[in-house]
Amino acid sequence: MPAVPATLRLTCPRCRTLRMFVAINNVATFRCAACEWYYTLSAVAPTGTSNAALAAGGTAIGVASGGASFTNGMILLLDTGILTEVVTVNGSATGTSIPVTAAVRAHSSGMTFGQMAIAPRDSGIGVGGVVIPNPGWGY
Ligand SMILES: [Zn+2]
Repeated sequence: MPAVPATLRLTCPRCRTLRMFVAINNVATFRCAACEWYYTLSAVAPTGTSNAALAAGGTAIGVASGGASFTNGMILLLDTGILTEVVTVNGSATGTSIPVTAAVRAHSSGMTFGQMAIAPRDSGIGVGGVVIPNPGWGY
């Protein structure tokens, strides 16, 4: 198991600004470094599996088919565990190639990925079972 946890830079749904998210279980649970809420990241449709390696710094995900489902500006969650990272589609994908912002980590062929979803891990229950009200600006 790697010694350094994965971190991601994401816009926190609670802070509403770019924050560091630290992987706390090397799987899919991340904690906002500012508000310290836990979030679960997941890949939702469209999803895919690469058919070529994506090197660190690489800017295209190769797929056997279905690449065109990934549209410009879509945020993608790549891979699993310590290799998890987030990239953004930054051009027009073809059936077999998806242009993305440069990957930070190297990913093997067969990597799973999909559109990223982020959800609070907890339901808002505080100390003693008190329900923490949503902030005034909504949540
Ligand atoms: Zn936050």
